[in-house]
Amino acid sequence: MFSLEGRVALITGANTGLGQAIAIALASAGADIACAGTSAPDETAEKVKALGRRFIAIKTDLSSLAPVQNLVDQTVSELGALDILVNNAGTIRRADAVDFTEADWDAVMDVNLKTAFFLCQAAGRHMIAKGQGKIINIASMLSFQGGIRVPSYTASKHGIAGITKLLANEWASKGLNVNAIAPGYMVTNNTAALRADENRNRDILARIPAGRWGEPSDIGGAAIFLASKASDYVNGVVLPVDGGWQAR
Ligand code: NAP
Repeated sequence: MFSLEGRVALITGANTGLGQAIAIALASAGADIACAGTSAPDETAEKVKALGRRFIAIKTDLSSLAPVQNLVDQTVSELGALDILVNNAGTIRRADAVDFTEADWDAVMDVNLKTAFFLCQAAGRHMIAKGQGKIINIASMLSFQGGIRVPSYTASKHGIAGITKLLANEWASKGLNVNAIAPGYMVTNNTAALRADENRNRDILARIPAGRWGEPSDIGGAAIFLASKASDYVNGVVLPVDGGWQAR
């Protein structure tokens, strides 16, 4: 039920952090991996290949829509299929709302929401033609809450939750499952500034029932679930993997 043997997954931003952990988890369940992003994903490639899976890297900047169709085409031509899309790549800009710039708004919205939607569209067209496919968008606690000093990030993560539900509504009857994972506070580059701030670090930890920040590997099980047959009747959920943060 959880096997991904013979499946091909395209994951954005899998050179590090949560994307790398998702790549390793899906490969451990049997999937071959295409990784799209700006940095060379050498470490991820090594770990995926060590699991006996095929791996390709597609160097691409996701701040524009230019590479979107090629990501689908190259994955299909080099790995023979596209069964799973994980929209993981994301960026964040921190500043008080009164000072927030248009450049910081666009930089985040373009990668986290605009490109993510059009990648869903390109992969979705391919999957609809096959009558099956799994799309997993990476949301956030800020898909549910406001946060502070991250207006474009909050807007993008609320947006990706909404788009996930819209696509589930349109595509569930076509054999596609579109869902999202909402990570809690995880130890990656994305949260380095928060962990370095003694007060924020203490306040965040105090609210996590599990009593610790999440590790990237904590996301793996949810990713396998949403990529596999086990989730065939799961559509449009935004699944928190947060050590209980949402429950408090
Ligand atoms: P990360 O370590 O900073 O990884 C972000 C990834 O996105 C990197 O692979 C990065 O590539 C890629 N990326 C950013 N801008 C890109 C662009 N223009 N083109 C191509 N790739 C780009 O952070 P992370 O925590 O693993 O983040 C992964 C996802 O989880 C993001 O969507 C983030 O919002 C979400 N998330 C994280 C947390 C958390 O606590 N860490 C919580 C909730 C949600 P480069 O390294 O080449 O820049």
